[in-house]
Amino acid sequence: MERHGIPFVVSAPSGTGKTTICRAVVSRDPDIVFSVSHTTRAPRSGERDGVDYHFVSREEFLRLVGEGAFLEHAEYRGQLYGTSWAAIDAPLRAGRDVLLEIEVQGARQVRLRRPDARFVFLLPPSFEALEQRLRGRGTESEELIARRLAVARQELGEVEHYDYVVVNEELERAIESLLSIVRAERAGRGAELRPSLGREAALRRVGPALGLGAGAPGRPGPGPAV
Ligand code: 5GP
Repeated sequence: MERHGIPFVVSAPSGTGKTTICRAVVSRDPDIVFSVSHTTRAPRSGERDGVDYHFVSREEFLRLVGEGAFLEHAEYRGQLYGTSWAAIDAPLRAGRDVLLEIEVQGARQVRLRRPDARFVFLLPPSFEALEQRLRGRGTESEELIARRLAVARQELGEVEHYDYVVVNEELERAIESLLSIVRAERAGRGAELRPSLGREAALRRVGPALGLGAGAPGRPGPGPAV
């Protein structure tokens, strides 16, 4: 039988380096592709329609919701984002894995609808590091930064539902970790990564610096129990 691809969901608070890491993984591994989401937000400079996102109006987005076009969708910072079935079905059927870089509410929906999906959370090494990265972007007001930090804290609380946790202490290592997760799952050997990249192992290391408890209840660790 032809191999069916695996959906990999990657979530992280903003300021964790998620986009850089996901792009590097997709460019280094020919068998995983990005799921191109729909969004109502305006394109940023350099972003291309159909490549970075499908940029649509709110009316069009809601019409698609009504048609049942989305695997998941959510509102984030006042804009709608969603993964269409069309974005993932064709590559998965062709035996390619698909990377969904989505926020935590959408990930919850995927968890309910796609038991074959694997969930990876990217963490900053500490809350201070996250704050520095958010501030490092430049010109935003204190009020906006405070709001983003509050959202980030909420998002961090979702980590307990993810199979794997990658800490972005050093970019190259984080990219290699995500690649190793993709390759291990593909080979049906996810359980081998549990001691290094499983949620509980990572939370033991960096949980205290992020105000997160280790070994929080959630899904069992990654991979089949062998
Ligand atoms: P941005 O506007 O910065 O590109 O993305 C904002 C947030 O929306 C990020 O956390 C990103 O991962 C998330 N996001 C992007 N596409 C989707 C999607 O299709 N569904 C959901 N639920 N979140 C998405």
